[in-house]
Amino acid sequence: MTFDPETATFLIAGPVRIHPRVLRAMATPSLNHRGEFFHGVVQEIRELLPVAFGAKGRQAVLSGSGTAGLEAVYAGLVPKDGTTVVVANGNFGDRTDAIVRRYASHVVTVRAPWGKGLPVEEVRAALEAGDVRAVCVVHNETSVGLANDLAAIAPHVRHAGALFLVDGISAVAGIPLPIEAWGVDAVVAGSQKGLAAPAGLALVHLSERAAAALHPGTYYLDLAAHLASLEKNDTPWTPAVPLFLALREALVLLREEGLEGRLARTRRLAEAARAAVAALGLELFPDPRFASDTVTAVRNPSGLGDPQLRKALEREYNVLVQGGQGSLVGQIFRLGHMGIADWPDLLVTFAALERILGKHGRLPRPGAAMTEVVARMP
Ligand code: PLP
Repeated sequence: MTFDPETATFLIAGPVRIHPRVLRAMATPSLNHRGEFFHGVVQEIRELLPVAFGAKGRQAVLSGSGTAGLEAVYAGLVPKDGTTVVVANGNFGDRTDAIVRRYASHVVTVRAPWGKGLPVEEVRAALEAGDVRAVCVVHNETSVGLANDLAAIAPHVRHAGALFLVDGISAVAGIPLPIEAWGVDAVVAGSQKGLAAPAGLALVHLSERAAAALHPGTYYLDLAAHLASLEKNDTPWTPAVPLFLALREALVLLREEGLEGRLARTRRLAEAARAAVAALGLELFPDPRFASDTVTAVRNPSGLGDPQLRKALEREYNVLVQGGQGSLVGQIFRLGHMGIADWPDLLVTFAALERILGKHGRLPRPGAAMTEVVARMP
């Protein structure tokens, strides 16, 4: 069997599987993006955005992948004077650092090793050093399957009066992100993760004070222009029309399930995935205390690399999981279980993993991983 996108069990860490209703929503003849019909679509999206973010605020949808949203936020909000603190403990933290350094005048980067929790004391010390105007951090480090404990740094950020700018690309609609309780000023979501829409849109939430603090950054991604247009059910430039149609349907699906329902289902899938990984005799890559509920990152067992595991899953069972990034290429594999991922996806994936490990004589307890998944099904 080789990869067949029509029938694959698809558990990469985003883009995620897309519901047929969302796929069908895109199959529409060309629309006038300045016409009444499309304004209605944008209006519905505007009204549904608080369902995705779990908060009201100033919100925008940009045509472009998640990185476009990050660039819009950092270009418009990191200060020209004063210090910006970046916290990095994975590949996307490093990416944040690279983007922020294009726009900020003075950046202090606080790092922890990939897969380790946030260095809370170091963040606090950096904030106490003074004149910090913005703190930029990834909520869910997709690269290492780790959810950063933002609650632990939120009070320090608030005390410093800095803007709290969060990459929520694989967090929104996947793990709890209480924007108001944590005093978050900007959140970026990607359409292709917890929202289970196609890749290519970035959703941005801003607090009132962040919206007021926007300064001109990039022209195309000017958030002030996007916010002003969305309030009129419009977009400043020609939007990715089919993706907007898909996003509307994906947001309707999310509303039907409810944000709390989706978060709870994602958590149950994650708990089952972690228990099944342990039953296979495999180890999580991140510090287990901070294991993400949207992405489970697993160390490849010694002697079995990508060709024997990940590629075999794809080749022999049409199961897609993701490999490592950067220095973790060939070291880990990652299961994305967010969006509309569900129990059959886990059952097929762990059955195939059991079979592959069994063929290599590396399965400690046949059937144990499946039992763990089944035990957690509703
Ligand atoms: N930040 C995080 C946490 C991500 O998971 C990703 C993509 O996986 C990105 C940023 C980059 O987003 P995109 O590839 O949609 O531009």
